[in-house]
Amino acid sequence: MTPPKEIVYQGFLPYRVFKGSEVDKKSHLKYRPLEFISLASYPPTVIKWAEAEKMSVVKELYQLQETDLEIESSEQALAQIASQLGESQAVVRTRTELKLKQQHLEELGQQQHSAEWEIEDLVNKLTTAEEKLYSGRIKDPKELTNLQHEVNGLRARRNQLEDKALEVMDQVELSTAGVATLSNELKTVEAEWHSQQQQLSTNMEQLKTTLPDLRHKQQLLSVKIDPQTIELYQELKKRKGRAVVKVEQGICCGCRISLPTTELQRARGDSLVQCSSCGRILFLP
Ligand SMILES: [Zn+2]
Repeated sequence: MTPPKEIVYQGFLPYRVFKGSEVDKKSHLKYRPLEFISLASYPPTVIKWAEAEKMSVVKELYQLQETDLEIESSEQALAQIASQLGESQAVVRTRTELKLKQQHLEELGQQQHSAEWEIEDLVNKLTTAEEKLYSGRIKDPKELTNLQHEVNGLRARRNQLEDKALEVMDQVELSTAGVATLSNELKTVEAEWHSQQQQLSTNMEQLKTTLPDLRHKQQLLSVKIDPQTIELYQELKKRKGRAVVKVEQGICCGCRISLPTTELQRARGDSLVQCSSCGRILFLP
């Protein structure tokens, strides 16, 4: 299958395809021959970029470095987002705490109910006993005394239970307020978590959109630059972090050394010049 001529060009590199009239036949020799590069598979932003003016090898390297760095930071950001997506510690903690408080409130409610039933039961017993005591039906003094004791005992027990019920009621009130506060807290924490998750998802989508473009750009630049230069770049990158550095006011931004005039002059041309002090590739924007 022969690809469309305006898109691919056998043996040469993308921008030369587009800038066909400017092709320098001799310069091709130093580039790695490629079977085909089909720009059709690249996104429009990358094609536009590839169509742009011819760059010096140092500028290409600098762009490759910028692209590599952008890819690295995007990948790091993606990994960080991935670790932040999902259940939040704060939400889980608040939910657990609320569940415990709700259980406690339920228990208190049960205590309150059983105290109330017990009181009701006692009051019934007491009413019957008091009725019997004051009815005048019982004449035997011993039996009356015993009955009086029973009534007294029941009264004391009732008072005791009523005190306990009041205590439980206070606790129920406190616990209800606590549950309400914590429920609101959970709502706030969940809302915060939800909006944070949404923001993270948006950021993730953005990164996932820009990353393929960056990788395409990286790929295009890597094939445009000759393999030996790429090797030098990779080796410097590994050793120094940044392989290509800008020269500002005659100073190498990699090691802050003032560069000799001859070195500056050579760097001003199209050739690849390494700093005599730190070895980094010098880029004069
Ligand atoms: Zn330097």
